[in-house]
Order: sequence, then structure tokens, then C-alpha cells
Amino acid sequence: MKREQLYSGKAKTIYATDNPDTFISEFRNSLTAFNGEKKAEMEGKGYYNAQISKKIFEMLEASGIKTHFISMLSDIDMLVKKVEIIKIEVIVRNIAAGSITKRYPMKEGTIFEPPVLVFDFKSDEYGDPMLNDDIAVALGVATREELATLRKLALSINELLVPYLDEKGILLPDFKLEFGRREGEIILADEISCDTCRFWDKKTGQSMDKDVFRFDKGDISKAYEDVARRIVPEIFE
Ligand code: UDP
Repeated sequence: MKREQLYSGKAKTIYATDNPDTFISEFRNSLTAFNGEKKAEMEGKGYYNAQISKKIFEMLEASGIKTHFISMLSDIDMLVKKVEIIKIEVIVRNIAAGSITKRYPMKEGTIFEPPVLVFDFKSDEYGDPMLNDDIAVALGVATREELATLRKLALSINELLVPYLDEKGILLPDFKLEFGRREGEIILADEISCDTCRFWDKKTGQSMDKDVFRFDKGDISKAYEDVARRIVPEIFE
């Protein structure tokens, strides 16, 4: 059962439960972009993202990746294991898009082989600046050993996600992961959804993710629903 609200982020709210070892992560309909500057509400967004995340967490667990996912308590409420979130946004890039094409001479669509991994400091106050290992260690956000583990886990997750999505006609240019510490281990936390990944339709190259909202590329509701139809077709039966 939901107890007190512990934390409310841009898209999810975390609640305590009767069990001190679990939280409830509620996926809300709020959408934000550009560090909270652009805001909107979208009917059904929380539902689609929760269901997409659940399905992807289950797929990863079945392939040996530990995640915080336990079960769904409702359409939008995910029961998760309590973790201590590591303040690093781990970004995996397979195809150049978004900020990397603005900060570096890299044209959108350039394929990264091998993938490019970026660690950003998870801090709204500082605008999520990019880290290197020395800065991360000096900040105390992770040890060198943990950074190596994050790298390994993120690349393993990418290797599972790319073919999984490709089969569904979806390209994965990039995505963001967050991890947490739990019982001496690092496990995958947060979400994997249309808000945290770039998804491009394999045939048309069109965005099916938060870029539709960020750059007013069309009907965001239709884009998220289309991804849900491909990843969790069972919810439409
Ligand atoms: N991303 C995210 N949260 C953030 C920053 C990035 O989920 O705070 C995701 C974003 O949706 C994209 C990937 O990480 O799939 C890479 O984002 P990028 O660094 O290009 O930033 P953006 O262009 O989204 O500002």
C-alpha cells in the first residue's frame, strides 16, 4: 500500500510502502523537457511508459540483468526494490542525435561502432554536466570500481536492447540509464521508456519518443502509443 510520498521527480513520484525494503514508483502524465523549461500533461503517458518499462525490465531480468522491478500494483504503479540512486545519468549512444550533434562536429545519424558511453552528473541545479572518471570520483558520486561496473552493465543492456527493439521495427539511437546501490551490488533502477530513450521508426526514421514533444514533431500521444503497441501489444487486446 502507498504510504508517504518520498520524492517527486519530473515524471514519477516515489512512495514508501509498508515494507521498508520496497518503494512504489508512480508514472505520471507530466512531460518536461529542457531541464523543466517546457512542460505539458499527456493523457495515458504514465500508463504507456510504465508498461513499456515493465516489459523491458522483465526482458532484461530474463537475460540476467538485475533491476529494481518487482511487479505492477496498478496500470501506473510499479513496486520496486529500495536502492540508493547513484547520481550519474549513464547515456549510451548508438547513433548520433541530440546534444552530441550540437556540442561536437558529429552529424545526426552517424553510427557509433562501438557505442559511445557518456556519464552525466545527475543534478538539475548544475544542468547535468558531463563527468569524467576523475570528476566523478572527486565529487564522490561513485568509485572507480563502480564506474567500471556501470560501463559494463550499460553496454550489456545496450546489447540486449538493440536487437530486442530492432525486431519490433525500432532503432535505438541513444538512451539514459540510472542505477542504484543495493546490498553491495549495483542494479538497474529508474525507467526505460519513451521519455528516456530515442526511438526511431526503422522504416521512416521518424521519432517515437520525447523528441516529438521537445521539438513539436507531431502527435506525441500517437507516438508513445505506437511504441507501446509494438513492445506491449498485449495491453491493447
Ligand atoms: N536523457 C534523459 N534524461 C536527461 C538527459 C537525457 O532521459 O536528463 C536521454 C534522452 O532522452 C536521450 C539520451 O538520454 O535519449 C541522450 O540525451 P542527450 O544527451 O542527447 O540530451 P538531449 O538532446 O535529450 O537534451
